[in-house]
Amino acid sequence: MSHTAVDVTVGFIGLGSMGSGMTRNLQKAGFSLVVNDIRRDQAAELLAGGARWASSPAEVAAGSDLVITMLPTPKHVGEAAKGIVDGIAPDGTWIDMSTSVPEVADEIRKANPGLHVLDAPVSGMSVGAAAGLLQIFIGGDEADVTRLRPVFEAMGDKDRILHVGAHGAGYTVKLMLNQLWFTHLVATAEVLAIGVKAGVDLGVLRNALVNSPATSNFVERDVLSVLEQGDYDEGFAIALACKDLGLSLDLAGTVGVPAELSALVEQIYRRARAAYGDRAGEMTPMRLYEDLIGVDLRL
Ligand code: NAD
Repeated sequence: MSHTAVDVTVGFIGLGSMGSGMTRNLQKAGFSLVVNDIRRDQAAELLAGGARWASSPAEVAAGSDLVITMLPTPKHVGEAAKGIVDGIAPDGTWIDMSTSVPEVADEIRKANPGLHVLDAPVSGMSVGAAAGLLQIFIGGDEADVTRLRPVFEAMGDKDRILHVGAHGAGYTVKLMLNQLWFTHLVATAEVLAIGVKAGVDLGVLRNALVNSPATSNFVERDVLSVLEQGDYDEGFAIALACKDLGLSLDLAGTVGVPAELSALVEQIYRRARAAYGDRAGEMTPMRLYEDLIGVDLRL
């Protein structure tokens, strides 16, 4: 039977940049919520809207029909998962929507064979989370994906909720997506900085690129937040971007595929993190190039 909002209580752990928008949309869709975060103040608005507070992941799991985690790193997911298994029913459901790796969930599934576990990381930034328009990449059993579709649809764009394979496939797709996007960002920043330093007008250069075989979604759309608003997307901290790049390189190592280009991109991201701090936005590597040429890349 599929989960409709009226009869389901969703437990949600991790109410940060992403989790706050996702929970608001679950609430709007009519799901009851039990929530937890290490910072209780993150829950104020949800509690005012009728959500219940739980003081630990175990309490979240005990008080809900299914549990969602949206936490920064595999380490945080592992900590929360320990509590979840203490409180969850033997045939309960846990969906990890964090950008992470399969190891934690694999261990939990092995030790608790009755549990329904899905990995369902997302893309779309905090803006997409707030708008309920996330793209969602789901790894796990088809029957669970079908049963939980209304839950995913409350948070995501219904045409971009993708069942991408067995357990772990969602994590893999998400890491590959981020690796490619960060690579586009660094490559674009480098090209724009060289071209501008060589004397070409930024707008002219970008237009030429947009109308060329070298164009990309990044050049056409995403770069504009920096070029038009000087917005480096603080909704996604560079510390987390570095985490994702690290996980991606680990995965490449595990499967034995060289990742020379990604390794270089990761180093450039690390440099930007060192220069501008952990909380700087994910697009801050563009600032490295701006500082190098002494010009802000603005249209
Ligand atoms: P965030 O740091 O803004 O939020 C994480 C929240 O988890 C914080 O409120 C923190 O207090 C809480 N938390 C940490 N450890 C906890 C624990 N043990 N128990 C309970 N709460 C805990 O991070 P975010 O930007 O919301 O990202 C969450 C995940 O989503 C990450 O894996 C990230 O890579 C991924 N992601 C982020 C974006 C984005 O644009 N921000 C986009 C796609 C995916």
